[in-house]
Amino acid sequence: MIANPIPWPDGARCAVAMTWDMDADSAFNWYNKDTADNLVAAQSWTRYDPLIAIPRLVEQFARLGLRLTFFVPGWVIEKYPKQIDLLLKHGHEIALHGYLHERSNEIDKDDELYWLGRGLEAYRKHLGAGPRGWRAPSFAFSKHSLRYLLDAGFEYDSSLMGDDIPYALKDGNASLLEFPVDWTLDDFPHYAHNRDLGYRMPISPPQRAMEVFRSEFDAAWEYGALWISVWHPALSGRLARFKAVLELLDYMRSKGGVWFARLDQVCDHVQKLMAEGRWTPRYETFPLYQSPLPEFSKER
Ligand SMILES: [Zn+2]
Repeated sequence: MIANPIPWPDGARCAVAMTWDMDADSAFNWYNKDTADNLVAAQSWTRYDPLIAIPRLVEQFARLGLRLTFFVPGWVIEKYPKQIDLLLKHGHEIALHGYLHERSNEIDKDDELYWLGRGLEAYRKHLGAGPRGWRAPSFAFSKHSLRYLLDAGFEYDSSLMGDDIPYALKDGNASLLEFPVDWTLDDFPHYAHNRDLGYRMPISPPQRAMEVFRSEFDAAWEYGALWISVWHPALSGRLARFKAVLELLDYMRSKGGVWFARLDQVCDHVQKLMAEGRWTPRYETFPLYQSPLPEFSKER
């Protein structure tokens, strides 16, 4: 089923990178900048993430011996440094997720570069070196993003949706690795319901979402794919949903043959395969379009 199968470490059937986007109240402020100060219940809904869910996740993943990747906006690093230190102390990777959860493809290219700079500054001030990885807030990767990420020295992105296994994004002679995601493994379409913020997903038991997450995992296991969740502590860190996450992990572990990894470890693995000539990713050259299609001009 997969045209260019990738060998996973120790003969594993598939790779699982359970990644979390620790947005806290950043996206909430970006999307509601004129009203956020007065939406107090919504503030509390978003701050459940750093205040309640993050310590819970850290404790449970330590018990299971799992180290994961957390994508964090620079503003959240500045605002919740203790939670970042807690994640780092337990061996989790912090990758960058914008500064204030800006939607890069809805702002102009100079603004995009400005916010990327703010994010990098916040990251490096707190963590020293890096980051190696990027996920565009709201997956809003613009046609300029790849060039900016390459210039900033990023080694991987995890925002695009073009494959089942790692591939590579190329601009000129430079490239970085893409670890693809998909809306099926994002928890927002399954769980987000908040009238103040305009999210209206029907409320249903976490088992419904888990059916989707688990069937994606079963297929990844069968065909050798990279399974990446895009989960949010404010949603999937809630009690019943997180209990279901732990049950899913039990299921994955009991099935066996799974490589659980942070994305920086997936990056190391792929880079090593490439250096040894054991596997070559599929390359896509960007940007695909510089402007709207010429066909729309009606000139022939
Ligand atoms: Zn986010």
